[in-house]
Amino acid sequence: MEITILGCGPSYGIPTAKFGFGQCNPNNPKNARTRSSIFVSDGKTDLLIDTPPELRLQLYNAGIKNIDAVMWTHMHADHLMGIDDVRIYTRTQISAFEEVIPLPAYMNEKDFEEFKQRFPFYLKPFKYIKQKEPPFDVHLIKPAEPFQIGSLDILPILQDHGSCETLGFKINNKVAYNTDLIDFIDYDINQLKGIDLWILGCVSNRSNDKHVYLEKALKWFEIVQPKRLILTHLGARMDYDTIMAQLPKEMELAYDGMKISV
Ligand SMILES: [Zn+2]
Ligand SMILES: [Zn+2]
Repeated sequence: MEITILGCGPSYGIPTAKFGFGQCNPNNPKNARTRSSIFVSDGKTDLLIDTPPELRLQLYNAGIKNIDAVMWTHMHADHLMGIDDVRIYTRTQISAFEEVIPLPAYMNEKDFEEFKQRFPFYLKPFKYIKQKEPPFDVHLIKPAEPFQIGSLDILPILQDHGSCETLGFKINNKVAYNTDLIDFIDYDINQLKGIDLWILGCVSNRSNDKHVYLEKALKWFEIVQPKRLILTHLGARMDYDTIMAQLPKEMELAYDGMKISV
């Protein structure tokens, strides 16, 4: 399997026009972070997790020509608002008048209520350009109920994100992607023990009530002992070189465009 970190930034992205790079060194390109998403491929199935605002550029920069399915962790704007950029993958040609092939789209049953209200137009064909199918073929998923997308086995894990619940995903029992959480809900962290690759959201080196922060990530690292732990969703206090120097060798910070083979 190959995982691409398309974006590893916090909800505001780095830099911002107002505050620039914060405490991150602006001369290190690894500190320029678009909003968080990953792309997973085992050579047979190509899966996108989350559709952040910079999605078109993320996909272009990573050279991604195919997406078989899209899946969401939750409905916060930084994980969702680039949704329109996946519609190009439903077309056989660039013309908007081409017939679309609906893209399988997986989300938490609870999130679908919000999705319906925000994006009712994605659940019907775009009649004004004479399309006969809607862009998305929605599949509802539930925490702790495993399912398959092509050749990928997925386990959704319920997470506490302070203001809402989110989903993390364990994929093929080898990789876990857990972002936008402060804790797990009804899930024993010991079940991640020894995993090959753990990608964990860690927004800051200061405590936070919606996201895992560095001290907690280090504690969880001791419990889970993954072969490799990559921190993502990195905020403006998480300077790449400064934080990397404080981490054990199995633990590292993500950067946009990072590729990991497992
Ligand atoms: Zn987020
Ligand atoms: Zn969030």
